[in-house]
Amino acid sequence: MRIQFLFLAMLLFAGCATTTTSNIAGTNRSQLLIASASDVNRLSLGYFAQQNNDARSKHRLITSGPEFNRVNAVMHRLIPQTAAFRKDAVDWPWELVLIDAPDVNAHVMAGGKVTVYTGLIRQLKLNDDEIAVVMGHEMAHALREHTREKMSEQQLANVAVSLGGAAMGASQSTMQLAGLAQQLALELPFSRTMESEADVYGLELTARAGYNPQAALGLWDKMSAQGGAGTPQFLSTHPAPQNRKTELAALMPRVMPLYQAANRH
Ligand SMILES: [Zn+2]
Repeated sequence: MRIQFLFLAMLLFAGCATTTTSNIAGTNRSQLLIASASDVNRLSLGYFAQQNNDARSKHRLITSGPEFNRVNAVMHRLIPQTAAFRKDAVDWPWELVLIDAPDVNAHVMAGGKVTVYTGLIRQLKLNDDEIAVVMGHEMAHALREHTREKMSEQQLANVAVSLGGAAMGASQSTMQLAGLAQQLALELPFSRTMESEADVYGLELTARAGYNPQAALGLWDKMSAQGGAGTPQFLSTHPAPQNRKTELAALMPRVMPLYQAANRH
């Protein structure tokens, strides 16, 4: 048993790192990253392809036209600014798809594959600054490799199940369940900590690209107000701290100079 604990300790030691340089608020949380980036990207790409095939078969996949071009232009203004957090991200195969559906939602896969539902843009009548806030938030999840972190947490739980299971002679199906759980980690919502982080890094990205970060405050109001028929999906798949708006407002004095500098030249 002692060797097994040593193994766990080594995994934790080797796996704790951080994916980005610190943000304007000066924070840079250490992350558990034992899942390999290539495994995570492969699973994410598979999921993205499957989603797109499904949407395409229903004639709901939008990859051209004025609405797509508008959102894509915002993303392409944000991409060069990712270098502020990590140099490699500028060359990632970033990709956007729109799905024609009333869902007020957006999500991102590892490696920078962003999906935006037309309901988000149309129902909330987003302006370009607000689109930039959403894109910045989603891109920040990818930059921080939150999916990889989620899977790493699952993998660590699996190692514990396997080690414990092997010791107790668990059946193979228990082990298979553990493997399945890792696949499902892809679909689990991000933690509140990750959401706060995506807000902070995303807001800085938005400002650096010359979009008005103040738009974030109105955007979350719009989201909450839209919840007549229940919580907008974006808010339910993005568990946010209650004080999200307070946190964002507190960041304004730091991000506004970046926005002003970006628009001076
Ligand atoms: Zn989020």
